[in-house]
Amino acid sequence: MYFVRVPKAADLIFPRVCFHKSGAARTLYLTFDDAPSPATPQLLHLLSDAKVKATFFLIGKNIERYPSLAREIAAAGHTLGNHSFSHPRGISDDMFDTEVRRTESLIEAFAPSSHLFRFPYGKFHRAQPERLRQQGLAAVMWSLMPGDFDTTVNTARLSRRLERATAGDIIVLHDGVNTIDKLQTVLPRFIAAAQTNGFAFSLLPAHFP
Ligand SMILES: [Zn+2]
Repeated sequence: MYFVRVPKAADLIFPRVCFHKSGAARTLYLTFDDAPSPATPQLLHLLSDAKVKATFFLIGKNIERYPSLAREIAAAGHTLGNHSFSHPRGISDDMFDTEVRRTESLIEAFAPSSHLFRFPYGKFHRAQPERLRQQGLAAVMWSLMPGDFDTTVNTARLSRRLERATAGDIIVLHDGVNTIDKLQTVLPRFIAAAQTNGFAFSLLPAHFP
């Protein structure tokens, strides 16, 4: 169970967490979680063809497994964010060093980090966004989750959900072998249609504490 559209109240309840970019006229932000993966080359190719840059949230153990793919994401000009080391269901405070700092170091070994952090599964304790901030990182979630990972969502439904995007939306999708086929079917058309409607796709700005 998940919200396709995150309720607006989230901004008020969690002031230290970015769910969408307010004041971003006709701008959309594509983000890809769980990178890198064996599907990364196809995803990079798709984005390159569409001439669009995105923000990738990398998992530390995937960087260790596919270091050259992590470098390719950076080399293509996309922004790199931190998505924990092992993608646990919730990060306890004593896991911060191993999950957050370790992944930050892995990213910084080959590219500048954006200092953006996305909690795996969107799960966090109330005080943790502030704790991130004290470590120089910013918590970024999303406002639109079309559900590319959801096996019950076919490409037609995924398209309809993407079409709900409005100015300032941060759209979460996934870099993985289970999602790439759907993304290849749906994303090029969505990007082209959005651009025809006057939307631009931007990188999430890096967070400089
Ligand atoms: Zn994830």
